[in-house]
Amino acid sequence: MRSITTFDIQYAHRFYGFKGEAQYLHGHTGVLTIEVEDTINKGVNMVFPCNEIQKTAWAVLKNFDHALILREDDPLLPAVLDVYEKQGIKNGHPQNTMKGAAFKTELAAAYPDCRLVVTKETMTVEGMIKIVYDLLKDKLNIAKITFTSGVNAASQEYQVKGTIDRCPLCGIALNEKGVCPKCGYRK
Ligand SMILES: [Zn+2]
Ligand SMILES: [Zn+2]
Repeated sequence: MRSITTFDIQYAHRFYGFKGEAQYLHGHTGVLTIEVEDTINKGVNMVFPCNEIQKTAWAVLKNFDHALILREDDPLLPAVLDVYEKQGIKNGHPQNTMKGAAFKTELAAAYPDCRLVVTKETMTVEGMIKIVYDLLKDKLNIAKITFTSGVNAASQEYQVKGTIDRCPLCGIALNEKGVCPKCGYRK
């Protein structure tokens, strides 16, 4: 069975080099849905608690929220960084607190101090799905990702390999020693 979680992500981007309105900087509230597949954990009668999926995913995905997402070859990138630098906000600001941990993958790099994500490919809904799967595939048994932004939507299904050992008392993933990091249950 599947546990399904949805997030809103507000971001600005543009399709650099695209022949249409989307080549201009603009913003969206994107809706991301992550479906996690596993057996039903008998102890709690759940696949996975949705608030725990949210916690795991949001730790990384909050880097995209209220962020500017630009392709690595977009000339806006050095221009924006130059403005942030002159304004003294490039390397952070006391009010910039909703930050995730910085990450760098093949497809994207997050710079939370200036709320910027730099992508290898254009950040379409398809591009976002590839980035999200890459970031979370080792943490969650992802069976499907759907991303909707304005009139654009895409989804991708994935083959789930194996099952994750979960706590029968609170449902979250046990650590490598078989201990629940939340309630201390031991397998
Ligand atoms: Zn757009
Ligand atoms: Zn537990």
